[in-house]
Amino acid sequence: MDWKYLRRDCWLEIDLDAVRGNFAALRAMVGPDIKIMPAVKANAYSHGIIETCRVLEDAGADYLGVGNIDEAILLRENGIKMPILIFAGNLVEEAAELYIKYRLIPTIFTVKAAQSISRLSSSKHPVFLGIETGRGRLGVNAEEFPELVRQVAALPGIRIEGIYSHMAGADWPDRPQEYARWQYERFLNGIRVLDELKLSVPFIQLANTPASIACPELRLTGICPGRAIWGYSPLEQREGHPVLSFPMKAWKSRLLMVKDVAGGKFDPDFKAVRLDPPKHIGVMAGGVSDGISPKFARGGYVLVRGKKVPVASSICLEHTILDLTDCPEAQEGDEVVLFGKQGKSEITMEELRASFGRDLMEFWTGITPHISRVYYEGGKPCSVTHGDRIEKIKA
Ligand SMILES: *Cc1c(COP(=O)(O)O)cnc(C)c1O
Repeated sequence: MDWKYLRRDCWLEIDLDAVRGNFAALRAMVGPDIKIMPAVKANAYSHGIIETCRVLEDAGADYLGVGNIDEAILLRENGIKMPILIFAGNLVEEAAELYIKYRLIPTIFTVKAAQSISRLSSSKHPVFLGIETGRGRLGVNAEEFPELVRQVAALPGIRIEGIYSHMAGADWPDRPQEYARWQYERFLNGIRVLDELKLSVPFIQLANTPASIACPELRLTGICPGRAIWGYSPLEQREGHPVLSFPMKAWKSRLLMVKDVAGGKFDPDFKAVRLDPPKHIGVMAGGVSDGISPKFARGGYVLVRGKKVPVASSICLEHTILDLTDCPEAQEGDEVVLFGKQGKSEITMEELRASFGRDLMEFWTGITPHISRVYYEGGKPCSVTHGDRIEKIKA
């Protein structure tokens, strides 16, 4: 990697071919007739929404599911043309103009929200209806769904293009499935009203990652995998499980300074600034505000020049201090690997995550947009983020 593309020397390396590969594995699993809506909320589970969605659009995803209207607008401003659903991040009636202006699909669970879109729309604006079936969260309760559909379907200016729910969990068929089945039954009972109203709705789904893999019969007309697109499935690997890989290949930084200090906050309890014996340290870019856990200071390590180097302290917002006592050859500008490979050495994402004491979703989404994302295609860097802007890297 040529460092001249970076403006901040702390970055993630993301392999877009792995995003493409995971999508292709899911497409092969469900076949051509089931629609796929990758869940790309939370900045694409922190992978960076713009480049990953460009790849998903190109790979043939049918919809994108984003978390809020800002993410959706950012995608439109970066040339993404495909249908985008907003799961829910605001009151639809307070942002109706934006949904219309940017051709975005709102999730509707009240008549009031539907009316606000209907009132402003000059053609039949697509909407999705959200049903709550057992996750205990957003959506109209399945039992009240028929009444909502009747009222929404009668409004001019609206077309019901999708109906969805979110599963609480699912597992392989020989494992307990009562809860998933109960959710599914509630969903089916709710949508029975569609026959009665002779409404045809193209996208009907309630299958997240585990449900779409373990329960083919729950796929209906579509699936909405999130974690699988980003390389993770909570299910154990069995026949029929798509082969997935993590697009997030590495998290790296560089030494901004190498020096001897006469004292410093090296006590992992950070109790005091002590006048320790002179200590040889390196300061890398990236700290607590970037998503590095303060726990990293206790027993955490990184790679510098292929060696494991202990973290001396990481309580700074934008920097982490490394103890270079056993790596005297380290120089300013050297690459630091938090996870990923360096020469013959490697720290896995799992090791880093464990030292942060976070589960995978917390770990990923804890990495802030401060950190540049460098994207790779065909093994070469192709673009880099600076905050929420993206810059192409010329070959
Ligand atoms: C996030 C989300 C998904 C994807 O869930 P995964 O378990 O990550 O696959 C599906 N549906 C809705 C409504 C979501 O918010």
